[in-house]
Amino acid sequence: MPKERDRATDRLAGFIGSAKCLEDQDRIHLLALIADLKPAASVVLHITPQNLDEKYHFENHLAQRHIVFVVSKPRTFERITNVRNDVVRWHDAGVYYEYHVARSKTALIAAKKRNEYGYPQCCVTAFHHHLKQPPLTPRAATQRVRFIHNVRKRYPFITYIPHAMGCSTTQKLNERYSSAIKRLASTFWARYLRGERYRAKLLVLDDDFTTGHFVGHHYHLVSLAPARRKYYQHELITTCAYPIGTTLDATIRIGGQSETIKVARAHPRRTRIIHLRKHPLLGRKK
Ligand SMILES: [Zn+2]
Repeated sequence: MPKERDRATDRLAGFIGSAKCLEDQDRIHLLALIADLKPAASVVLHITPQNLDEKYHFENHLAQRHIVFVVSKPRTFERITNVRNDVVRWHDAGVYYEYHVARSKTALIAAKKRNEYGYPQCCVTAFHHHLKQPPLTPRAATQRVRFIHNVRKRYPFITYIPHAMGCSTTQKLNERYSSAIKRLASTFWARYLRGERYRAKLLVLDDDFTTGHFVGHHYHLVSLAPARRKYYQHELITTCAYPIGTTLDATIRIGGQSETIKVARAHPRRTRIIHLRKHPLLGRKK
C-alpha cells in the first residue's frame, strides 16, 4: 500500500472514530469500507451548531483517500430538550445529510442500483425470500424481532440480518470487521464493545406492537433526566403491560449494538404524553 494512501486512511479513520456527527453504526460502515471489507456504504451526518466544520472535514478526508460519494440535500432533525410532567419538548437541533460512499464510481452505482454493500450472498438471498413471504403470524413476527435483537447481541459489528444465527460467513465477517476496526480506530473499538451500565427512570412513550401483528409489547422509552446532556430514547420488548405514561425504574446495559433493560419497578400511569414540537415534521402523518 503506498504511503500517501496509508496516511490518508489514518486521517480518515481518526475522524470517523471521534466525529460527533456520526452514529456508531455508521462509524462501523465507514471503517469497514476503508479497510476494503465493503465496496460501499450509506451513512448519515448530523450537523449542529457544535460541529459545523465536520461536513467539510469529512468530505475533505474522503477526497484525500479517493473515496467517491454523493450527498443529499440537508434536512432538519429534532431532539428532545426536556421531559417534565408528561410533556416531552422537542427543538430543531440541526440538519442531517445522507451520504452514499464507495471505493469507486462503479461500486457506487452498483450499491445504488443493486444494493451491493458487501453482504454475504446466503443472507441476501434469505432476506429477499423473507420479503416475498405472506405476512407473518403474530408469534412468528415476534420471533423475528427477537431474532434480530439476538443477532445484534451476538454479532456487534454486523448490521444486516443473517440468514441464520449460525451463518459461518457472518461469523467470519464479524471477526474481520472487529480486527480491522480495532487496528484503524482502537479507542472507538474499545469504547463500543465495553459499553456502559447505568440506572435511570424511563418514561413509556408508545408501544409499536399495538397493531396486533405481534405478541407482547415493543415500547419506546425516554429517560427522565439527561445523560451526557442528551435525552436518550430506548426500546424494550417484553410481555409485561405498561400503559403509556408509566415510569420505570430500570437498569440499562448498552454494549455494541445491543441494549438490555431490566425493570426493577413500574410506577402507575399518570396521564397521557404530550409532545411539544416547534412545527410538524414534513412528510409525517398526524
Ligand atoms: Zn448467511
